[in-house]
Amino acid sequence: MKNQQPTLFQQGGEVRLPPPPAKFSTRNDPFRLVTKTLGLILCIVTLPEILPAGAGEFLVFQRQGRKAIPRIMIGQQAYLPVTDLLHVLDLPYSESASAGFVQIVAGKNRLKLTKGQSQAMLNETSIPLSAPVVVFNNQWLAPPDFVSRALGRVLSEKIAVAPSGNAFAVGETGFARLNVRLAEPAGTLSVQASTSIAAEIRHEGSRVVFAFGNAPVDLVGQDTVQKPDWIRSVDLHQTEAANQLVIELADKTLTAKVTHLASQNIYLVEASRQAGTEPKAGAFGELPRPMAEAWKWRHITVDAGHGGQDRGVAIRESLFEKDVALAIARKLRWALENRLGVSVVLSRPEDQLLRLEDRVAAANLARSNLFISIHTGNGAASPAAYSYAYTAQLSNDEGSSREPKSARSLFVPWGEAQRSSLVWSQRLAECLQAEMNRALNGGESLAFRRSPLKVLSALAMPAVLVEIGNARVSDFQAKAESDQFQNLVAATLVAAVEKFRALHERP
Ligand SMILES: [Zn+2]
Repeated sequence: MKNQQPTLFQQGGEVRLPPPPAKFSTRNDPFRLVTKTLGLILCIVTLPEILPAGAGEFLVFQRQGRKAIPRIMIGQQAYLPVTDLLHVLDLPYSESASAGFVQIVAGKNRLKLTKGQSQAMLNETSIPLSAPVVVFNNQWLAPPDFVSRALGRVLSEKIAVAPSGNAFAVGETGFARLNVRLAEPAGTLSVQASTSIAAEIRHEGSRVVFAFGNAPVDLVGQDTVQKPDWIRSVDLHQTEAANQLVIELADKTLTAKVTHLASQNIYLVEASRQAGTEPKAGAFGELPRPMAEAWKWRHITVDAGHGGQDRGVAIRESLFEKDVALAIARKLRWALENRLGVSVVLSRPEDQLLRLEDRVAAANLARSNLFISIHTGNGAASPAAYSYAYTAQLSNDEGSSREPKSARSLFVPWGEAQRSSLVWSQRLAECLQAEMNRALNGGESLAFRRSPLKVLSALAMPAVLVEIGNARVSDFQAKAESDQFQNLVAATLVAAVEKFRALHERP
């Protein structure tokens, strides 16, 4: 059964059946029966319009598994059956129907709820609740914030409340928030978790299932998501039996590939058509074409090459490419932010090992308008310390396409993302090369270079890699670490980016 977790891309025709009504107490105490009947009559007499209805369930995550307790709606207010929760948590309590209160005993603490009061009493202290405590069908009902505001204070273990308010986790650090959104290249869906979390991925026909075991997860960020044509629904199915995110593809001829970017807790879902199946004309509409519209630069990714154990080229004793690249990248970020007024992110802000896939994913997910990767040169054959700009070199479409025509892909494949931006990347490389020739290459007329660089080919924006100087040349070895030289490099790159912006941006 599905519970009432927020539903992304909810379908218009979907009908949710309410779960069976909450169980009545089976105790046959005549006094309780009277109270129950009185309570029912009272409720009907005084509040005729707010009859309770079943509305899914709350889920309690514990180390030994998950337990569901009914979620009861009275009007617009969700209610939690207090004694059901106390049974799950194995907390002793006493209730007095005649006096109209229930009291929880936890160590030295007494937590008391009184019928009709919008508060809980913790020993002598009043804790406000968002709605009054209600007794209905012989059940003590409290608003869900009773857990975070009051009960959490008397438990020996921490209890975390899911952002949706529909689940609690006992003894855990809290819920991993799952953020599902569209990503680049167009037609990719990103599932990002707020903390590291293991998921078993299953492909079940046209469904992709992320099974999270007993790890507490919750779905957030649905308001920013627009449903793409290739997805029918994205739902979190959370019950005692299942704890999984289900992505339902639009039809059976679609298959999805899932890529895990472990260092960023991201799963990328890309769909493509199976070979031999023809899509219905117009079924998927046009892919988004942001380039056709007026738009302004917002975001630039500056990528310092190498890092961590990957030291790059040794420039001289205890000075490596990774250090010079990072120093220049930091200066470039500062200069870009101050001159261009756009946000700049370093793919690695410090000396750390970072995979190419992660550098690419960060820039694509941030929808960067530009990507510049900083390296130093190592030209064994060249006696000079010239700086060069590089663009990706992609395989030619004609005749050498690796994919047969029948295996039509709906979306730009991850590794080919650069293709639609390549012309702009070349313009950017021209601008960079011209400025570097003037300021760093002694006025030489050198051309930018093309290379089948993996990092560039997967980027969905104008992207270049620059190689500054030459680690084999003593003049460069001497100045590579100096602030003066690094500032000159940053200023040169910024001047080129400003010229490129005038061509590329459409204000
Ligand atoms: Zn390098």
